[in-house]
Amino acid sequence: MNERIDVSRWSDAELERGFAERVKRDRVLTAEVLVFLGEMIARRLFGPAGYSSMYQYCVRHCGMSADVAFKWTRAARMARRFPAILDMVEDGRLHLTAITMLAPRLDSSTAPWLLPAAASKSMRELRRLLASHWPQPDAPAAIKPIAARREAVPLSSEQEPAASGGGAAPPAGGAPTQSQELAARPVLFSETDVRPQGESSPPAIPKEPTAKYLLQCTLDEEAVELLERARSLALPGAHAEVAAVLKAALRDHLEQQEKRKFAATERPRAARRSHAGGASRGIPAQVRREVWKRDDGRCTFVGTDGICCGARAGLEFDHILPVARGGESIVANVRLRCRTHNQVEADRVFGRAFMDRKRDAAQGARS
Ligand SMILES: [Zn+2]
Repeated sequence: MNERIDVSRWSDAELERGFAERVKRDRVLTAEVLVFLGEMIARRLFGPAGYSSMYQYCVRHCGMSADVAFKWTRAARMARRFPAILDMVEDGRLHLTAITMLAPRLDSSTAPWLLPAAASKSMRELRRLLASHWPQPDAPAAIKPIAARREAVPLSSEQEPAASGGGAAPPAGGAPTQSQELAARPVLFSETDVRPQGESSPPAIPKEPTAKYLLQCTLDEEAVELLERARSLALPGAHAEVAAVLKAALRDHLEQQEKRKFAATERPRAARRSHAGGASRGIPAQVRREVWKRDDGRCTFVGTDGICCGARAGLEFDHILPVARGGESIVANVRLRCRTHNQVEADRVFGRAFMDRKRDAAQGARS
């Protein structure tokens, strides 16, 4: 156990100096943690440990709160792409919250001017800076329980709004107005910010059958037109409730998605059958359905932590004995894996270097 420092008898000057020193050390340490996190993300070390993302690793393995884990992982990714961030963190010109706010707007064209412009800004000034260059930020997508609780329920647990102070810098410059809050929040939790691979997490909407929620999101013109058409179709002569139309549309959408997931291979596959002696990569719909049911629609990977991943998003059907090694598409040889753990498995079977080359080649072909 560390012996706790007793500062009760320190002079005011000593106390101030001691505090300043520790804040400085904290910044240096923060930059170092970002470096470590960034490298762990790049090596996908969360996968073998049993987590679908570094965010999950931070929450479940390191015991961070959701909002703090969100900030750390996002800032670490940004710092890896733009190492200038590390210097700015170290000398106090940028903190984690600021990096998280800037992240959706940072790319190779904006970073050279946006980072210096954001240096040592208060939260209010940062919001103003972002709003001046991106004048009409979308309202943040959020689902709020009506009257039950004050905070919004994030659309995914990775988008947990800052609830506690842990690690989050307090907004400087007084309480923000509502419109300022709106302007700032999409930057923090914007859906336009493309989520990196393997960063999906299960929805965090609590299951209370009687609870009601307020949904907020920004629609473009096409979406509004679609919604209006759906409303008038649903209730000829009048406009149906938006909520009812959304619910029906979601049901239809899910049904279609599930059908696609399970039935994509019900197409004729005579041509594929004719070669490769039976072991086809295509998994029959019946097998998909049974595997999905058996695995409860979750990633079944158990990591070195002894933790079952259990991710529900981005699931893939994985052959236990790979098709390339003669594995068959039967229920006993297929399991559910999230993308991260499908990759972990591929690394294990075919070797990390080989798979990295394959992934790089695939990425090259895509871009
Ligand atoms: Zn997984």
